[in-house]
Amino acid sequence: MKHTTTPSPTEPAAKGFSPGFAALGLEASLLTTLEALGYEEPTPIQREAIPPLLEGRDLLGQAATGTGKTAAFALPLLQRIAHGPRQRPTALVLVPTRELAVQVSEAVQRYGKELRISVLALYGGQAMGPQLQALRRGVEVIVATPGRALDHLRRKTLKLADLQVVVLDEADEMLDMGFADDLDAILEETPATKQTALFSATMPPRIASIARRHLKNPIEVTIAREPVKAGAAPRVQQTAYVVARQHKVSALARVLDIAMPKSALVFCRTRLEVDEVTAALNSRGYRSEAIHGGMSQVQRDRVMQAFRTGQTELLVATDVAARGLDIPSVSHVINYDLPSSLEVYVHRIGRTGRAGREGAAMTIVEPREQRLLRAVEQHTKARITIAPVPSLGDLLAKRLERTKSSIQETLEAGGLEDFRRVVDALSASADPADIAAAAIKLVYRSHGGDREEEEIPAVQMRAPEPYRSSRPAYGSAPQGDRGRAPRGGPSRGGRAAGTVRVYVGAGRAAGIRPGDLVGAIANEAGVPSRMIGAIEVEERFSLVDVQEEAARQIIEALGRTRIKGQKVAVRLFRD
Ligand code: AMP
Repeated sequence: MKHTTTPSPTEPAAKGFSPGFAALGLEASLLTTLEALGYEEPTPIQREAIPPLLEGRDLLGQAATGTGKTAAFALPLLQRIAHGPRQRPTALVLVPTRELAVQVSEAVQRYGKELRISVLALYGGQAMGPQLQALRRGVEVIVATPGRALDHLRRKTLKLADLQVVVLDEADEMLDMGFADDLDAILEETPATKQTALFSATMPPRIASIARRHLKNPIEVTIAREPVKAGAAPRVQQTAYVVARQHKVSALARVLDIAMPKSALVFCRTRLEVDEVTAALNSRGYRSEAIHGGMSQVQRDRVMQAFRTGQTELLVATDVAARGLDIPSVSHVINYDLPSSLEVYVHRIGRTGRAGREGAAMTIVEPREQRLLRAVEQHTKARITIAPVPSLGDLLAKRLERTKSSIQETLEAGGLEDFRRVVDALSASADPADIAAAAIKLVYRSHGGDREEEEIPAVQMRAPEPYRSSRPAYGSAPQGDRGRAPRGGPSRGGRAAGTVRVYVGAGRAAGIRPGDLVGAIANEAGVPSRMIGAIEVEERFSLVDVQEEAARQIIEALGRTRIKGQKVAVRLFRD
């Protein structure tokens, strides 16, 4: 059965639980957690996946990171295992990378807080001792990379005979990394009675084949979307800034400090973020106000009134809160998060650039959301420029520029007689140019010039297309099997910026395939696959492009490990 959905325009109640989540069949303790997390309504994948998963159905879901898919499988998983016999383990979530193992296990822990469910992340590169100890003590949910899960199965330190739920997360990525055999071997060890959910950003034939073998009469969930008709998406200038999660607030402030919008909308996904962002902006001297579904109508009206009259310059909102509002066109829409569906993105940026006026949409993106960003670009059929977060130097230059132009305007306006008298008096003991500079310094300071600022570290982009070409992210097509290898990307001599080349002393003759190298790097060095670029497998050696910052970790880890059962030489390759 194939289910498709488009986001519903309904607005949940202003206060209390979102009927959206309650209507999906989630129990009160989970609703309390979601309320505390500030989630206002389910994302499309959650709306479609949660009810069948709660019923115990197998599921094949097409969704990528950023769509809310973790909660889509974690919430029903938690609800189901909380009331069954709590075996240890009861549920296994397989993910491609160590990074994701950590993220997903933290998310499951967060969602399962009220239900007191124990969670453990297992991945390569982590010391065995603590893992073995935790496994001996017993945990209910295990989130693991396939390599490490198999390792424990073989050591008999992990037993899957009593599993009730298995989730394959980012299945296409796991196949790309050469984990197909490992997945089969792991699933072999699980009971036939278990519930299985498989999530993948793409649905190539290889995923269909796994689904056929391992899912029982699965419900299929795809988030359908009408492609935006040419010209339907607002023509606004779109820019994205890629930063690590911990620098998002500083990046937002920096972008605002440079753009200085008179009135802008800042969108966040959750109520919590709305409150945090509003507080952070106000502490930096902005006049911002929060608006979200947790506020009463009276409060919302007051905030809107202040925004319309220009008393508030920044309105920080959740999508749900903004949906029902008659908001005047603003010069800037700033997405503190990428939204979880394309339609929501288009709706957000439609708040600017109205009636032929110029508008700008700026989005803060975490590195792992770059795939989604490309999907947005395809969907809106407009270019999104990826720009570095403005540096401290840019900020200082901008502030000086602003000071200069306000002085110029004041000069042009005239009426300076009273102030000339001060200059005359001061000129008796100081050089007039110094007097002017001191006055300018005061103006500069009043523009925030003496605020302590920090440099925001730049984040490396993923390797360029085509190796991560047109992958649909939020949901549907294009379909097709990208094939396991070789990864495309720049050929020898034409590496992407910020990458170095690693030499591995084994190649085709030793049966090496690109997937083996990706698997070894991800598992042993615990480096996410997006850090890996083009791979060339020659007869007797291989060359792997990797992000410079991860090179040393990769070389050390590969040097310690066996690839296809053999120890190989690994070193930095110089062209
Ligand atoms: P995921 O696609 O699972 O990686 O989730 C992406 C982000 O969206 C995470 O930071 C979640 O906390 C957040 N998120 C998931 N579901 C919702 C929701 N219904 N409302 C607001 N934020 C959500």
